[in-house]
Amino acid sequence: MIYENFETQAIRTQTERSQYREHSTPLFVTSSFVFDDAEQARALFADEISGNIYTRFSNPNNNEFIEKMCLLEGCEDGIPTASGMSAMFTSMAALLKSGDHILASRSIFGSTHQIITQILPKWGITYSYADIKKPETWESLIQPNTKMFFIETPSNPSLDLIDLMWFAKLCKKNNIISNVDNCFATPYLQNPAKFGIDIVTHSATKFIDGQGRVIAGCILGTKELIKEIRFFARHTGPSLSPFNGWILSKSLETLSIRMEKHCENALKLAQFLETNHEIERTVYPYLPSHPQFQLAQKQMKMGGGLVTFEVKGGLERGRNFLNAFEMFSHSANLGDTRTIATHPASTTHSKLSDEDRRAVGITPGLMRISVGLEHISDIIKDVEQALLKSKI
Ligand SMILES: *Cc1c(COP(=O)(O)O)cnc(C)c1O
Repeated sequence: MIYENFETQAIRTQTERSQYREHSTPLFVTSSFVFDDAEQARALFADEISGNIYTRFSNPNNNEFIEKMCLLEGCEDGIPTASGMSAMFTSMAALLKSGDHILASRSIFGSTHQIITQILPKWGITYSYADIKKPETWESLIQPNTKMFFIETPSNPSLDLIDLMWFAKLCKKNNIISNVDNCFATPYLQNPAKFGIDIVTHSATKFIDGQGRVIAGCILGTKELIKEIRFFARHTGPSLSPFNGWILSKSLETLSIRMEKHCENALKLAQFLETNHEIERTVYPYLPSHPQFQLAQKQMKMGGGLVTFEVKGGLERGRNFLNAFEMFSHSANLGDTRTIATHPASTTHSKLSDEDRRAVGITPGLMRISVGLEHISDIIKDVEQALLKSKI
């Protein structure tokens, strides 16, 4: 039976059962696999048959995780990686060479910014940044040696969107590989490959695990591109631990219901904040006041689990507000069952210059909330009491 629906694919995709007839996939904690005979070993190494050889290349737990991710994202092939950052780095390093140029939206994850500006240039790969607010200028940034265009949508933490269908066409027209970090949306809300994107990267550490237990990532895409990436990964070893692969495959079984609730709670919190007089502005893709509300509805199933807003009273009020939470966790992470509050200007984006921070929409009083799965009335109650307590 072919499973066509997200929930069923996430639950019923399973590696073969062993002789023990287990219901839930067991953990395959083994570094290598034995061959039946010399001929099988030869055929496996010659890629004439598929099968596990060594866990740096593949492992049943990791295979199950990646098979699910490919189905859920609508991608032909993929590889799991030890972290989101190893996914970003491997997807770039495997496909780019000295003399190539990479374009990226300026609004990207901090470590991805470091890879593009500090690490890739060591191997002669140059870069330019594109302003997420001015997509009409993007085509003029393309150089003859531009090989890849990397973006995130929704962006962190300003929650600006990029029209994926338009972006895929722009890249195809100019013969550039499109690479989208889909971490914020997850495959449940948005499938970049279905709009024509070539490479979809993830930090699985966030909503995909969703319970704050593992560091992991993956790279998905066309057979042709993944073949090149797999060669690079097999020999450089950014491999995922089977234990984490096992956790992630289990996590995917509940991704749909978790995302439904994250989004439901986030929308309710955003609606509460928007009508509160202590809040300067609230940003959430599924609020009609979001400048890209129409686009959000077109390319995202729901609004996502993150809400950003600005408290009246600037930096000092912002810090007091953060210190006043009783239930929310104060952490730089996101995508957890527990609600997490972050102050980007002093943590995740503190290394940026004031000018760069302003360019990506991070004002001193900006707060980012990764809305968890607690009861919405408790989430709102914590915000209400923190607003009251932090009043200057
Ligand atoms: C967290 C994150 C990453 C990095 O992932 P790790 O699993 O921490 O290595 C990359 N991109 C985005 C958008 C993230 O939120």
